[in-house]
Amino acid sequence: MLSKRNYDCVVIGGGPAGSATACLVAEQGYSTLIVEREKFPRFHVGESLMPETYWAFERLGVLHELDRIGFTRKNGVQFVTSDDKETQPFIFSDFDDHESAMTWHVQRADFDQMLVDTAFNRGATILGETRVLDVEIRKQSPHKVILKSETDKGKEIEVSARVVVDGSGQQAVLANRLGLKDNYMDLKKSAIWSYFKGARRNGGTNPEVTCILHTNTKDAWFWYIPLSDGTVSVGLVGDNDFILKRGGSPENTFRQELANCPGLKRRLIDAECVSRYHVAKEFSYRCTQQAGPGWVLVGDAGGFIDPIYSSGVFLALKSGVMAGEAICQGLAANDLSAERLGSWVPQYNGGVKWILKLVRAFYTKPFSFGDFVREYPHHRENLTNLLVGKVFEGNPGAIFDDMDPWIERMTKDEVASSLV
Ligand SMILES: Cc1cc2nc3c(=O)[nH]c(=O)nc-3n(C[C@H](O)[C@H](O)[C@H](O)COP(=O)(O)OP(=O)(O)OC[C@H]3O[C@@H](n4cnc5c(N)ncnc54)[C@H](O)[C@@H]3O)c2cc1C
Repeated sequence: MLSKRNYDCVVIGGGPAGSATACLVAEQGYSTLIVEREKFPRFHVGESLMPETYWAFERLGVLHELDRIGFTRKNGVQFVTSDDKETQPFIFSDFDDHESAMTWHVQRADFDQMLVDTAFNRGATILGETRVLDVEIRKQSPHKVILKSETDKGKEIEVSARVVVDGSGQQAVLANRLGLKDNYMDLKKSAIWSYFKGARRNGGTNPEVTCILHTNTKDAWFWYIPLSDGTVSVGLVGDNDFILKRGGSPENTFRQELANCPGLKRRLIDAECVSRYHVAKEFSYRCTQQAGPGWVLVGDAGGFIDPIYSSGVFLALKSGVMAGEAICQGLAANDLSAERLGSWVPQYNGGVKWILKLVRAFYTKPFSFGDFVREYPHHRENLTNLLVGKVFEGNPGAIFDDMDPWIERMTKDEVASSLV
């Protein structure tokens, strides 16, 4: 099953974060093992990308692969308000004529397969259908990783790793083992989603926007992501209790909220549901530490904010690339300290905080992108940049100098009008 038991780097999970890290470490000649519990290609949620993923794709050398597979091109984001206003889309190329302004809506099974194949081609060993049961973190690496084959009669084996990378997504194997998970109490959201054929599309090979549509009570919102196989991914997101604790099936809840969303009803008028209804709950959290001696957390395993701006895959790739570079430097210098392996974390968290702030703005009830931009048209570029994922350079937080007081004012106005 495995020709060797000692690795420079063992990566838990072959999602975008794990594959990106493994690519970089393996291409430097370090022995790298990805352990993935599923059989690939496997289904996964998270189809709408942020344009800034471009730079990770360039670094991984996969831009031509994305074109070859032929995913739907994504050129912007459109918000539809609770009173059914189709606001002017944020078109990414309006403020940037570089080709990176155009991104993709991807079927994750094909996308993740392409990334794990890339890691394999750079020299990583891929062990599929094998679950990481536990990691024994010692004072000093190498650490012990205990694996269980899902096919080979459930056989357990141990491997040693100078560096363990947790890219296990929401399973967060290492963060759970080390007690590092910390939920965002104000972002306890859940989602129900499915796939529709015959839904309204731009047609042909025209690029499409991701639509975000509020329901008329503003208690929930839908994503609408057109995919290249002719289907559209449609998902409902709201507070955990609102979505999951009203009784009835997920499909019933989805359909009840669809009835409250005229913009989505228009788009699905001739559509047919072609999949089961999936559910994900309470997915937003952070980790109190993202690296330690001989271990690193990447992608969702290190934290996840919220699906609203489609930042998940971008941050998975970004952290995967940043961690991969830090691991290579650490292995070369024989310094696998927390400081060395986590040298990228302050810069990374410094960017993520702006996305988190915009997520929290979205969930304050009076917030509306359309209203804000109408009052502050000069912030349209800054806002577009945030939606693109440009949060790691320049001054991405400048917009909040106006947005914070604006939200405060709108909230006061709303409270006052409810008292009249
Ligand atoms: C409702 C919802 C909607 C979303 N929509 C979007 C979107 O539109 N756009 C976007 O960019 N992001 C979206 N996301 C986020 C996106 O799905 C994740 O951020 C992204 O998949 C993270 O990548 P990752 O590599 O960290 O983890 P994953 O992609 O989850 O990969 C982790 C891998 O680890 C494997 N694994 C888990 N446990 C073990 C184990 N014990 N042993 C071995 N392998 C293991 C899993 O099988 C999996 O293949 C959404 C998330 C949710 C919850």
